[in-house]
Amino acid sequence: MTRIVYVNGAYRPYAQAAIHVEDRGFQLADAIYEVIEIRDGGLVDATRHLARLARSLTELAIPPPMSDGALLHVMNVVIRRNRVRDGIVYMQVSRGAGPRDFALPPATTPPTLVVLARAHRRGWSAELAETGIAVKTVPDNRWGRCDIKTVMLLPAVLAKDEARRAGAREAWFVDSAGNVTEGASSNAWIVTPDGTLVTRQLDHHILPGVTRATVMDVAKTEGIKIEQRTFSRDEALAAREAFITSATNIVMPVVKIDKTTIGDGRPGKLSHRLRSRFHQVAEFSA
Ligand code: PMP
Repeated sequence: MTRIVYVNGAYRPYAQAAIHVEDRGFQLADAIYEVIEIRDGGLVDATRHLARLARSLTELAIPPPMSDGALLHVMNVVIRRNRVRDGIVYMQVSRGAGPRDFALPPATTPPTLVVLARAHRRGWSAELAETGIAVKTVPDNRWGRCDIKTVMLLPAVLAKDEARRAGAREAWFVDSAGNVTEGASSNAWIVTPDGTLVTRQLDHHILPGVTRATVMDVAKTEGIKIEQRTFSRDEALAAREAFITSATNIVMPVVKIDKTTIGDGRPGKLSHRLRSRFHQVAEFSA
């Protein structure tokens, strides 16, 4: 249970933690966020998450709310005060509050910073990974800068709902050329029939996933061949294995895409190997 939330300089009880009604994040989705895994009370891949946060802020010219050191301190206080051993830290930075206006506010406007921690039951994702998940493909109807981690998540919300109604846990966005871009809240991967690991190259159409980067490190240490390139929905349907990566799912096998069973319908060996090695390679900071 979340008890204490950090909001703009103060640690507040969950029910009383609040932002301004004219916050630009609330009115205009003028905000960015990060989600970091908490494991054994420590942060997983904090350096990479903070680097991406800084990049998102720079791309949108939102001033950083505080230094990385101070942010790490706030995250650790929030983790401790909520007694979270396993779960996630969610942090959001908006361009601040002010009378609703499309024009950017003065650069001196203080950004809004919210940091909260949430516990989850250890092992939920390992259990799900034993059977794997289904995904549903949907047209990618998002904007042209999906590499920035903004809170503008309505297309992802609706895509996930469509997936859920079809009995799938994640949606995979497919562009107008028939290529899979990424999941609604994850990166998409396949293993080709000859055993090559494939995930889309980084560009403006996908988020540079932190888990994606660390899984590539794992694959390198394991001597697995990786290709960063576009792959089509058709290629995915014929894949030997498929999986998604995100800070909450780590490596989650995909056993069904739309109506097609992937491989023999059970999580693949490579997905399992990458998952089981993940936390030995990822950065851990207590
Ligand atoms: N793509 C999208 C669209 C996402 O929302 C996420 C998770 N926030 C990811 C990829 C995976 O990123 P990460 O591994 O950093 O959690």
